[in-house]
Amino acid sequence: MKTVFVDVDTQIDFLYPAGALYVPGAERLLPALEKLARYAGAHGIPLLSTVDAHSENDPEFRDWPPHCVAGTAGQQKPQQTLLDKRVTVPNVAAEFSIDGARQIILEKTAFDCFTNPNLPGLLARLDAERYVVYGVATEHCVRCAAMGLLATGKRVELVTDAIETLREEDARRTYAEFTDAGGVLTTVEQVTAD
Ligand SMILES: [Zn+2]
Repeated sequence: MKTVFVDVDTQIDFLYPAGALYVPGAERLLPALEKLARYAGAHGIPLLSTVDAHSENDPEFRDWPPHCVAGTAGQQKPQQTLLDKRVTVPNVAAEFSIDGARQIILEKTAFDCFTNPNLPGLLARLDAERYVVYGVATEHCVRCAAMGLLATGKRVELVTDAIETLREEDARRTYAEFTDAGGVLTTVEQVTAD
């Protein structure tokens, strides 16, 4: 089944205790994130990595501490989540080429990766039958990605041991919403079994 891995916002500001909007416990995901990225690279599975890329006065900072400002260290992705042969798809309508890329970095300025106007065209080009979603945080950006991908009518799997949560009860609600809509829960071990 033609698969795309969707790695949501695994950026320094979210993953590390010193990050600007730390998701508690997220640094423990790093071995899993690395395993998934390496597996994708080794199996020719495109790795679609969404990233927050905010401006300094982004409207989102009215509700959240400033984080992932484009060009800062906190906005970067740790080495464990990076593959060679990357392309970056900007958060404005633009021409872009993904030829030969193993990893596509999709910029966004809101929770929902579908706010990037280039995403529908990108998904059409990737032409996946199955999306494997993981990252942070479960009830915010991961939820938006997973639910938005489900709405495209494709199989979507959520890797429950490669996501981290800000509030446990919100995460439980997200799991229920996702599975009620036809989403499938999986694990790193299952996804990387062969
Ligand atoms: Zn943000």
